Amino acid sequence: MTRIRNFTPGPVEVSEEVLSAQYGQQKLHVGADFAATYIRVTEGLQKIFGTSGHVAVVPGCGTLVNEMALGGYLAPGKRVLILDAGYFSSVLQRSVEGWGAEPVLLPVPEGQPLAPEALRTALTQQHYDLLCFTHVETSTSLLNPVKDYCQVARDAGVPVMVDSVSALGTCAAEMDAWGIDVMTSGSQKGLESVPGLGLVALSDRAWKHVESTGIRRGGVTDLLRWREQFDTARDWHPSLTTMPVGVVYALDVALQRMFSEGLSDRYQRHRTARDFLCAELADLGLEMQIRDGARAAGVTAVKTGGRFSSSDLVTYLMQHHQIRIAGGFGANKEEVFRVAHMGDHASIPALRPVVSGIAQFLQQLT
Ligand SMILES: *Cc1c(COP(=O)(O)O)cnc(C)c1O
Repeated sequence: MTRIRNFTPGPVEVSEEVLSAQYGQQKLHVGADFAATYIRVTEGLQKIFGTSGHVAVVPGCGTLVNEMALGGYLAPGKRVLILDAGYFSSVLQRSVEGWGAEPVLLPVPEGQPLAPEALRTALTQQHYDLLCFTHVETSTSLLNPVKDYCQVARDAGVPVMVDSVSALGTCAAEMDAWGIDVMTSGSQKGLESVPGLGLVALSDRAWKHVESTGIRRGGVTDLLRWREQFDTARDWHPSLTTMPVGVVYALDVALQRMFSEGLSDRYQRHRTARDFLCAELADLGLEMQIRDGARAAGVTAVKTGGRFSSSDLVTYLMQHHQIRIAGGFGANKEEVFRVAHMGDHASIPALRPVVSGIAQFLQQLT
């Protein structure tokens, strides 16, 4: 089997060490060994999210935990402001509607983040019960100025939920310091592990808020139940349901790798990889979708500039180089391609073959 080098933004390339942590004999989601691992994972995630609040680790995915988190805040009649920066905003919109609340979409300008002042205006014109946005909008590679938006939201007294599904692990997250109430992620992107877990962190203030609303959503989708289970049975049966056990062990190894590298060194490595890729592609005459200064550390979206269709490049790299990259999203699907630089692929040596493959593709066009 030819080994494919994976540069798609999720699931991302994963080290052998993380992959193999899943295997061996069947493991259980109960007992002291699993419990110790699960606790270590939740505590490690608290450091990465930057919060003293409990992090719920649940079977599933980013979309599920976004929906669970929204469920703790929303009831019919509540109104949510969503910054519409691309595809993943529309996914949030559906979840808001699913709980019977009203989403209001604020469009983000092309290629750059919304100015914090524009957010301030929107939050003062109407009452909102929640502000939602992506940390990184994976479909365009926009990095939102999270800290600035949180400041504006604090001033307006509106709680903040941040979807950090692809960003977490590639760049700093400081939930408590920045004033984020809820932040979500998944195991398969910036945290460089395998798919299967949704991660949802609430600040201590947000947990109190969720308790006080009295809104309880479902059984297993009720965040408070996950925390109660953890608090009452953490040493033996810390999760509410059966977990994808191997995935928890894999994430544990991935987090230990992150801590042994050091978080700030890791984030710097991602930025260096991004800057290298953007400079090399610019030398090839390509334009990034997002302006300098607002680009994600873990994924880069690049415009084809009308020179080719992104699906042709995707196919070429796979056929000639066994390199997998991703196309664009939505209406501009063929006009954008995306290269992820997460996990061990956030490095200059890992990206060199991608750059030379793209250069070859461009050469044979003419
Ligand atoms: C991938 C992604 C999601 C969806 O995550 P799933 O685990 O596929 O449900 C949501 N938001 C963002 C920003 C993402 O990148």
